[in-house]
Amino acid sequence: MIWIDYEKCTNCKKCLHCPQGVFEDVGYIIVANPEYCNGCCYCVQVCEVEAVHVDEC
Ligand code: SF4
Ligand code: SF4
Repeated sequence: MIWIDYEKCTNCKKCLHCPQGVFEDVGYIIVANPEYCNGCCYCVQVCEVEAVHVDEC
């Protein structure tokens, strides 16, 4: 499961660079394509406020 804690998210958009295209920017970042995730943990590592949660990471 992948989810964003919007109480923490600062809308910095760094997670948007997910190499698998899991996230989309609709003014804020949404988890648009969770089925594309390969568990690389890039998004979790790049989020400075620990707002992205991926079960495998
Ligand atoms: S990297 Fe974290 S703070 Fe930045 S947009 Fe993504 S979830 Fe929000
Ligand atoms: S773990 Fe990797 S592939 Fe999955 S959403 Fe995060 S950056 Fe994308």
